[in-house]
Amino acid sequence: MPRSGTSPDNTPQDATALALQDWCNRLTHCARCTRLRTYCQQIGQTKRRAYLDWEYWARPVPSFGDPQARMVAVGLAPGAHGSNRTGRPFTGDGSGDFLYPVLHAAGLASQPKATSREDGLRLHELWITAVVRCAPPDNKPSLEELHNCASHLDEEMALLPNARVAVCLGKIAFDGYVAHLLRTGRITSKRELAFAHGAEYALPEGRHLLASYHPSLQNTNTGRLTSAMLLKVFQRARARAGAASPPVGSDALSASSN
Ligand code: SF4
Repeated sequence: MPRSGTSPDNTPQDATALALQDWCNRLTHCARCTRLRTYCQQIGQTKRRAYLDWEYWARPVPSFGDPQARMVAVGLAPGAHGSNRTGRPFTGDGSGDFLYPVLHAAGLASQPKATSREDGLRLHELWITAVVRCAPPDNKPSLEELHNCASHLDEEMALLPNARVAVCLGKIAFDGYVAHLLRTGRITSKRELAFAHGAEYALPEGRHLLASYHPSLQNTNTGRLTSAMLLKVFQRARARAGAASPPVGSDALSASSN
């Protein structure tokens, strides 16, 4: 049987899925950050030699996952030749090659591979977002760009009715999500909230905040972050969310919103 909110062919149907779909569509037209929009387009024109036959996405990258998710994974920003090429978070680069096998092992992704928006991947109980939606040069958004993109996260989180557990991937994502919690009145102080791999905080209203190192090649190639370390974080997130195991079969996995 398909999950509530999806049709038999996993097309989003309910109000939540449609609202998120609409939000994602609007996001792709955002042009607040001139530097980032220019950079994304330039990368899409020059391309990397291995991807010369790709038409790069080259615009803001929408979020991805299960509209009914109880967990949210918060990343930093699209990679220039990963998400900025494929149009889906963590898809088509080394970070995704590390992350999705872990999500699959944790029962949150239908398959360990993420290569394109048409690869059939579905998430279960997980929504993947980011604090910046356009690829920044050297993976370093400016403070102004982080600020520009912040309201997108606020709008998006308001559309996810069940999200209670956040897994922040890296310190910038952690700080951005904590700032979101402050802006929206979920917390009144960030004094106790410090980033560290494996850190976990219980928040008001039954919410939980977990932190991991970002699955960048810089961290994974050096062994600073291993698959076992990241899997442990997502397994704890699942436990905090009280997520049920996905029923057997792809029909059990919900539709992407994009
Ligand atoms: S980074 Fe965010 S705010 Fe800036 S242009 Fe992209 S989507 Fe808009």
